[in-house]
Amino acid sequence: MKQGESKTVVVVHGGAGGSRADDDGCVAAAREGLADMEKGALAAATAAVAALENDGRYNAGSGSVLCLDGTTIEMDAAVMDSSGKLGAVACIQRVRNPVLVARAVADTPHWLLAGEGAERFARIAGFAACYHVSERARRKHEALLGKLAGPDAVLPNVANAAFSHYWNYAAPHDFGTEDGCDTVGAVARDGAGGFAVACSTGGSAPSLLGRVGDTPIIGSGFYAGKLGAVAVTGIGEHIVRRLLAHTVYQWLAQGMPMNEALEAGVALFPREIDIGIIAVTCGESGARSNKDMPRAEAAA
Ligand code: ASP
Repeated sequence: MKQGESKTVVVVHGGAGGSRADDDGCVAAAREGLADMEKGALAAATAAVAALENDGRYNAGSGSVLCLDGTTIEMDAAVMDSSGKLGAVACIQRVRNPVLVARAVADTPHWLLAGEGAERFARIAGFAACYHVSERARRKHEALLGKLAGPDAVLPNVANAAFSHYWNYAAPHDFGTEDGCDTVGAVARDGAGGFAVACSTGGSAPSLLGRVGDTPIIGSGFYAGKLGAVAVTGIGEHIVRRLLAHTVYQWLAQGMPMNEALEAGVALFPREIDIGIIAVTCGESGARSNKDMPRAEAAA
């Protein structure tokens, strides 16, 4: 390390409520991020998330969950760094790596593109059309339909019947829903003390068509500033109400120790709401969740 350089680090997560058996994909992704670190924290965080999107075991990119109609896949992703680079996509369909499209949006006059416009932008930016339903997504969808038909609420405090009542897909509904929550995210600190965050999700299931969670919303699912970077995971509808990523960032910026800030962030939510947080500052890095959450950290 040269004088004036800080230790580089990448922390990644594979989604609150995911299995620690999937930590190995996070380890590989964190290493991929670190391998791109010479291009800076933004490149590192983005590369780590792209690796998780390609893995297929996480609810992002090629592993994204199916929407309730059993056909549509809508994905959200975002990137941000401490120099002010900011890009996001919401409800984007038919792309392999939403996080790379979000990174491309950061070079446009806008910060967030949604729906058809986002997909058309992706084509213009050179991203090929891609529609991939993983076997895992298919199985989860089947299981979800079964649970929606049952008496137990699939989402905490939400009646299963709400999804048939407000059904807005072109195809008629046929369930009685699956709960899916395995978004991916990465935070990075580069050798020059720059910070970045990237995150990507296939959304939460069950959801209506056009639903956007916290993942592409600045301050909710992600935040990066001069003093650090934060990515969160869990049920977006609950996360946005607490502006969780920015809240934790501010605590860290005020000097709260990493462990305390992460604990306090998780403690904002009742136990039945899956929540996970990863963060990095100039001196610390960490991850915390109230359920299992695949994760890994790589440093050099
Ligand atoms: N936060 C994501 C969403 O609500 C889901 C997740 O983190 O698993 O879309």
